[in-house]
Amino acid sequence: MSTKAYAAFSEAEDLKPHQIQRRDLQDKDVFIDIEYCGVCHSDIHTARAEWGQPHYPVVPGHEIIGRVLAVGPNVTKYKVGDLVGVGCMVESCKHCNPCDEGLEQYCESGMIGTYNSAKSKHGGITYGGYSENIVVEEDFVLSIPTTIDVKAAAPLLCAGITTWSPLRHWNVKKGDKVGVIGLGGLGHMGVKFAKAMGAHVVMITTSPEKGEDAKKLGADEVLISKDALQLQAHANSFDFLLNTIPVGHDVNPYLSLLKLDKTMCIVGAVEPLPGVHGGLLIGKRRHLAGSLIGGIKETQEMLDFCGEHQIVSDVEVINIQDINNAYERMIKSDVKYRFVIDMKSLKNS
Ligand code: NAP
Ligand code: ZN
Repeated sequence: MSTKAYAAFSEAEDLKPHQIQRRDLQDKDVFIDIEYCGVCHSDIHTARAEWGQPHYPVVPGHEIIGRVLAVGPNVTKYKVGDLVGVGCMVESCKHCNPCDEGLEQYCESGMIGTYNSAKSKHGGITYGGYSENIVVEEDFVLSIPTTIDVKAAAPLLCAGITTWSPLRHWNVKKGDKVGVIGLGGLGHMGVKFAKAMGAHVVMITTSPEKGEDAKKLGADEVLISKDALQLQAHANSFDFLLNTIPVGHDVNPYLSLLKLDKTMCIVGAVEPLPGVHGGLLIGKRRHLAGSLIGGIKETQEMLDFCGEHQIVSDVEVINIQDINNAYERMIKSDVKYRFVIDMKSLKNS
């Protein structure tokens, strides 16, 4: 069916209105009327060809919340009217080892991204949530707790799970000193989750003016990363670092912050990290690691946890017509802390 969307047509142009086709419902498909979609920095990286040439036109958006409008004949998990979400993946092979373990994001055949994937078994290119509706297999649809604010829940589908998953994997627990590097969409969720897990949370930021806010989000301390003296004062003291910086950068000043045997996990920079100093790893048996979003089961656990503990994102709701301005503001780190598109603005246009 024909569906209104917003798309990038080249790396240099603004996003603009576009018409896409959604497939007819297959056996296991869920047809979702999109109410809100979060704006992730990955949307910008993709639309602007910063991660290689994408399949233009690109319809970004992988923090999708909406209502079920219809289901295919063999759908068992969802019914019309349910509040549901879709994150960064819409398909995987379902029979490799990672898929068997609920780690579909590491599928050996490659998971199918919610947008800009040319390998969907349904053919064509996948188009994301900057659109009126979407059709997704039920195994990649999440159930959204009805106890939380719908628009503020959208970023949980990417920013939420991408920070939740490493905090859980590295077993962050009560009393650990955890640093979250970069206070953006991912970072602010990292602070909230680490705090909820009982950690002593340090916000590590380039922006001194965000300090007070970081404390409101749950940070116990703020460390300004441009200040060498502050870095020195925290040397060798962290149990875990979650690094959300969206570009390649010098990781050495951050590695120096870790205790013996502890880990810094990169989730932001999907690009070369220049000049990692081996001595900083060797000298304290430190680990430098990475993590990609999270599996479907884990995403549902995170959403249920958010429902129980009333955890959502801090969002600024925009109309889709403001998306290009929102991208510019995100690049300047001028958003508290996630833009979310109200899809009524597209439907009514
Ligand atoms: P964002 O909202 O733009 O936040 C990034 C934050 O990093 C900024 O607010 C800023 O925080 C800090 N920062 C920006 N440029 C910096 C620089 N040059 N040096 C040091 N700090 C800098 O972005 P986001 O949506 O949270 O996404 C963060 C990154 O994660 C993006 O690259 C995105 O593509 C990636 N991502 C990865 C996954 C995954 O699965 N691993 C999933 C989703 C997104 P301060 O002002 O506090 O310094
Ligand atoms: Zn994302």
